[in-house]
Amino acid sequence: MKAHASDDDIANVVRMVEALAYRAHIIAGVERTVVACVGEERGEAHSLQHLESVSGVERVMPVLRSFKLASREVRPEGSRIIVGGVEIGGPRLTVIAGPCAVESADQVNGAADGVKLGGAHLLRGGAYKPRTSPYSFQGMEDEGLILLEEAGRRVGLPVVTEIMDAHDIDEVAEHADMLQVGARNSQNFSLLRRLGKCRKPILLKRGMSTRLEEFLMAAEYILSAGNPNVVLCERGIRTFETATRNTLDLNAVPLLKEWTHLPVIVDPSHGTGIWSLVAPMALASIAAGADGLLIEVHPDPRAALSDGPQQLKPARFAQLMKSLEPLAAAVGRTL
Ligand code: PEP
Ligand code: MN
Repeated sequence: MKAHASDDDIANVVRMVEALAYRAHIIAGVERTVVACVGEERGEAHSLQHLESVSGVERVMPVLRSFKLASREVRPEGSRIIVGGVEIGGPRLTVIAGPCAVESADQVNGAADGVKLGGAHLLRGGAYKPRTSPYSFQGMEDEGLILLEEAGRRVGLPVVTEIMDAHDIDEVAEHADMLQVGARNSQNFSLLRRLGKCRKPILLKRGMSTRLEEFLMAAEYILSAGNPNVVLCERGIRTFETATRNTLDLNAVPLLKEWTHLPVIVDPSHGTGIWSLVAPMALASIAAGADGLLIEVHPDPRAALSDGPQQLKPARFAQLMKSLEPLAAAVGRTL
């Protein structure tokens, strides 16, 4: 739409688009509103091109990429997603930190105190855990959700937790400010579609063998089902290298920033699997243009019930946050 198109102009265009059997998504940008029209092309009679002469329309532009709503073309200035009052994708970097899993009230409270003191903006902790073995600790489930919510409220941090099963969406959304889709569910399209109907922001992790275009198509499932609040997370991919748990793909950061308006954060904890590599790769992620980080922090990593080798002690986390400050300034961001 033209920069000064009226609400009536926009509503009129939406009506015309829908009459042509496309779905209209209104994307309100800083400068102008974009009406994204998604649907199957059905020949000349249904062409949108003639809308170019309609009041308020500046131009009709086909989005050539396979991901339409996620494409940077529809929102060149980038999206800012608000999670419990905390912005992701703005000038300030966002750090999500906390234990891999909620294990007990003491453990999650210890982690919450530690990450708050270190300067994290959001608290994380898994209640439903996707474990490789059915014999490993599976998470505290609903009890864990409540412990996480209480710990977050006590220290004043919004909380992020993983959603594994569409049946749990209402329950998890009641207790958490942001729902994480883990690597193993990254292309669970029925779950993604259901999350499109959820009003909470979604943290979508990259699958361990998901190509970047596939990653954005996964995000597109959520966006096209009606939830515009998606943050992408690079967490390493599986390669021939076994010295690290995964290979953190930092190429993904600047490339995703070119392709999409969605914020991109990096998880160097799962990306390396080794606590001593977390800080250097966190710094590298910010240098590469990430909008934030996800860092696993445990009050006593050696006693952790999952992902012990990659979790930072609170003091190390605080050191990492300090070392990020000059780097954030160097890339024109704040912490
Ligand atoms: C996690 O965040 O604890 C987790 C299970 O991550 P991923 O899905 O990236 O393996
Ligand atoms: Mn973990």
